[in-house]
Amino acid sequence: MSAGDRAIWVACHDCDLLHRLGEIPLGAEARCRRCGATLRKRHPRSIERTLALILGAAVLFVVANSFPFLSFDMKGQETQTTLVTGVHDLWTQGKPELAGLVLLTIFLAPLVQISILLYVLFPLHRGRVPWNVEGAFRLLRRVEPWSMMEVFMIGILVAIVKLLGMAKIVPGLSLWAFVLLFLLITGAVASLDPHAVWERVEERR
Ligand SMILES: [Zn+2]
Repeated sequence: MSAGDRAIWVACHDCDLLHRLGEIPLGAEARCRRCGATLRKRHPRSIERTLALILGAAVLFVVANSFPFLSFDMKGQETQTTLVTGVHDLWTQGKPELAGLVLLTIFLAPLVQISILLYVLFPLHRGRVPWNVEGAFRLLRRVEPWSMMEVFMIGILVAIVKLLGMAKIVPGLSLWAFVLLFLLITGAVASLDPHAVWERVEERR
């Protein structure tokens, strides 16, 4: 990627019309010639905003994995489950595939996502270029589809509704942390402008 070759081809996500986009000034946006949909927006301070969101997500990730997820009160006997014990229970109940899937989609994928974003954005914010930033970004793109906390949250809701008749269920701190974590990661991914990252990388190199 050289400095003079920043024009890119972008298809409008609404009507598919191809546009050749050159440099867009900070805070400005490029719109589709035909339908007016936003093609690309340059958020001022995209890197810093994404970094702030992902730092919040990192804290929530720790909280979400440290505290009880749900408490069941069945005939006076209280059981607490955390994410780790939940995965372990699935495993010992003979559902290793499900245990693996839960572990991958709500633990490993978000963990890798948060780690890579911190690894890339924190040094860039401080004016340094992290080692192998391209490789880190490629890995991020591959991991994103596996981060499916929203699917998990829907599954939990279904399970809670099914169990309501059988036991008293108390949502734990971790459940709320998960909801917020999901919102923060979604926000971070939305506010991350890859072009802003590459521009910052070029500036610093
Ligand atoms: Zn269009």
